[in-house]
Formats: sequence, C-alpha cells, structure tokens
Amino acid sequence: MKGSLRSRLTLSIAAVALVLIAIISSLSSYFINQQFKSYITKQQVSTLNEIVYSLGQQYNPDTQMWNVDYVHTIGMYALYDGYIIKVYNDSDQTVWDAEIWDMSVCVQIKEDITHQMLTKFPGTSGKFSDSDFSIELMGNQIGRVNVTYFGPYFYSDNDFDFLNQLSSILLIVGAISLLVSIILGSLIAKRISSPILKTINATSQISQGDYKIRIKDRSNLSEVDNLIESVNQLASSLDKQDNLKKQLTSDVAHELRTPLTTLRITIEAMLDGIIEPSPERLKSSYEEVLRITNIVKDLESLAILEDGNLKLDKTKVDLVDLAKQVVKKLEHQIHEKEMVVTIKGECESLSVDESRMTQVMINLLTNAIKYTQAHGNITIEFDETIDDVMVKVSDNGSGISADELPYIFERFYRADKSRNRSTGGSGIGLTIVKSIIEAHKGDIQVESEVGVGSSFIVVLPK
Ligand code: ADP
Repeated sequence: MKGSLRSRLTLSIAAVALVLIAIISSLSSYFINQQFKSYITKQQVSTLNEIVYSLGQQYNPDTQMWNVDYVHTIGMYALYDGYIIKVYNDSDQTVWDAEIWDMSVCVQIKEDITHQMLTKFPGTSGKFSDSDFSIELMGNQIGRVNVTYFGPYFYSDNDFDFLNQLSSILLIVGAISLLVSIILGSLIAKRISSPILKTINATSQISQGDYKIRIKDRSNLSEVDNLIESVNQLASSLDKQDNLKKQLTSDVAHELRTPLTTLRITIEAMLDGIIEPSPERLKSSYEEVLRITNIVKDLESLAILEDGNLKLDKTKVDLVDLAKQVVKKLEHQIHEKEMVVTIKGECESLSVDESRMTQVMINLLTNAIKYTQAHGNITIEFDETIDDVMVKVSDNGSGISADELPYIFERFYRADKSRNRSTGGSGIGLTIVKSIIEAHKGDIQVESEVGVGSSFIVVLPK
C-alpha cells in the first residue's frame, strides 16, 4: 500500500513511541508493584511488632492485671486493620479474643480480605493463617498473642486505591507522551518531507522544460541536501545544454550563411553573364564549398564525440610514434612554410583510441602550422609522471591574447576573426580536441603570449 512520506514517517515515529511507552509503562508498573509488595510485607512485620509491644504495655506487673479496656481498643484497631487477635495471660487464660467479642465482624473481615486479594491477585498463594507471638515486659514473658492474618502480605483498601491511582497516572503519562510524540513526529516528518516534496515539484517542472528553476530550501539532512544539490545541478546542466543547443543552431546558421551567400552571389553573377566563369572564380567557389564541407564534417565529428555514449576503441599506442606519423602526414604543409618540427622526450605506450588521438595531434599541429609564420619552429614534447603522460605542442607563432584564451575551446570560437578568415578555420578544431581528451579522462591546458607563441599541454592518465 502506498502512502505519503509524511504520513508514513509520522506513523512510524508514533509506532516506535507507542512500543517504547508500552515497555516503559509495563516495566515501571511491574517494578512499582514489586517494591510496594516488599514494602507492605515489611509493614506487616512492623504492625505485628507494634501490636505485641502495645499489648505488653497494658499489663501491670504490680497488680499482675491486664488493662482489658485498652487491650480491647488495641484488638479492635487491629481487627479493622485485618489482624484478628487472641490475647492470653501467662497461665494461658484468655484476656481478650476478637472472635468472642464479635465473631461476625471477624468472619466478614476474613471474607473481604480473601475476596479482594483473590480478585486482584488470582494466582496468589496467600491465605489466612495464625501465628503466636510471646508478649514480654522487661524481659519476662507475661503472655502470648495469637494473630490470624492474611500472609505473607495483603493490601488494605487504601493500598488498593494507591495502586489504582498510580496505574491511572501511568496511563495518563503514557497517553500524553503518545500525543506529544505524534505531534513531534508529524513536525519532524514535515521538516523531512517538505524539501523532498519541493524537489519532486521542481523535477516535475524540469521535466516540463522549465530549466531555470532552482530549489533554494535546505534541510538539516545531508542526503536530502545532496538530492537538492543534484537536482539543481541537473537543472543547471539541462539549462546549459538547452542554451548550447540554441546557440549551436544559430552559430551553424551563421557559419554557413557567409560562404553560401558568397557562392550564391558568384554563381548568380556568372549565370547573369555579369562575370565570366574563369578558372580562378571557379577555384574560389570550390574553396567555399570545401569550407562548408569541412564545417559540416567537423560538426559531424563533434556530434559523435559529444554523444554521452561515445565508445572509445582503445589499444596500446606509442604516442611518440603517432606524433611522427602525423608530422609525416602534414609534411607538405610543413615544407611549404619551411618550418622545423622537433619531437623530444619519450613516454610509455598508453591505452587510447588511436584514430581519435591522431585527430587530436592533427588538429594541434595544423593549428601550430596555421598560426605560425614561415620558418617558424614547432616542438612536440613528451614527458611522464607515475600517473600521467604529458604531450606539449609548442610553436613560436602569433600567440593568443589573454582575454581570448578562455574561449578558444568553445565551438566556432576564433580568436582574431579577421586574421582567421584567411586561414580558413571553422573554430571547431580545439572543441573536438578537448572532447576527445575528456573522453579519455584527460585534460588540456594552453599557455600563450601574443607575438611569442603558444603551447598546448595535453595530460592523459596512464
Ligand atoms: P580554427 O579552425 O579556427 O583553427 P580551433 O578551434 O582549432 O579553430 O582554434 C580556435 C582558435 O584558437 C583559432 O581560431 C585561433 O585563433 C586560436 N588558436 C588555436 N591554436 C593556435 C595556435 N597554435 N596559435 C595561435 N592561435 C591559435
């Protein structure tokens, strides 16, 4: 059966409280009864001693006479307390006997006490029995008293009242505790469930496309706070993705519009006979088409790389070897600009996706060639620590200004736009590099100074 978190929590807290209160009440009731029983038992002994002592005081050793009136008073008090006494002198003659005085009261008291004790304690082994106690005065026995009473202990009406009142108090305390725990439980449950409910509302709004929503409430539970934090992060990353998607669409449109417009105008002019379709014009149109093709190709690679499920086809690769092969591939461009490429250092083979790592090297090297003047120097340096392998691609080219440096890995970002138009970059190359490195759980950093050169440092975990 499904129930709300709040009602479940309240019920659970109340159930725990109920069980605890029941245990505490039963235990305290049990121990109070035990203590009371032992108190009453001791009380009975002291009452008996008191009866015997006060009877002793009613004997006059000079006249050797008993003060029967007082013996009668003591006997009557004892009788109403549940003790039926018979007093004998030292010659065993009766001085006073409760049963002779009032048999019916004696029977009545016996019946009342037996009935009450058996009703309240059905399993009790107690019963009426009699015992003899010698009455002494100054060390001499002056008689004896035979006492019939309910042993080993019995409760008077007052005692029963006291026990009943105690039970009622325990019951009231239990009921108040239960009520308080339900109220407290409900408050605690509200404190716990309220941020969770807000989180549920927020996630439902997020699922409907409201990525701007953030949960500001905090609870005092770390798990709930983590949940809130995760949902906020989810919302913010969805928001970022959403913005990126919109940005990408407009960027792609913008990037394609310029070469397409140039192409359209040129072809229209050729069709209208305004200009001749000369080989140079066709070549320049062909280059525009090539540019568009490159942008689309780059976008395709990026789309694959940015897919969360990108699968890397990893094999053990010697990165120094890979760098040498890339330099060979780009030999033509390097020779054209009469540049010097040096490969330094070494590192152990790494488990990487070879074709994607080749792409990284091609992009970094192509950039170094593109943004370095003729006769420039390019260095590919390898180094390693216990955990990582470092590849540093440096050039002594144009460099990148500090305010543009943070953006060069963003898609379509081109530093110094006017210059780059001539180099034909789309601004996606470094975005692809970063995606590949991150897919390998690595990192890429850049150091650059305008007019001095740039270094791209790739760190890959072993
Ligand atoms: P592009 O296709 O324009 O080269 P990239 O993403 O590869 O796009 O690079 C982004 C920008 O970073 C480039 O437009 C360029 O301004 C700058 N850049 C990249 N590498 C270098 C480098 N080695 N030297 C100077 N600038 C560079």
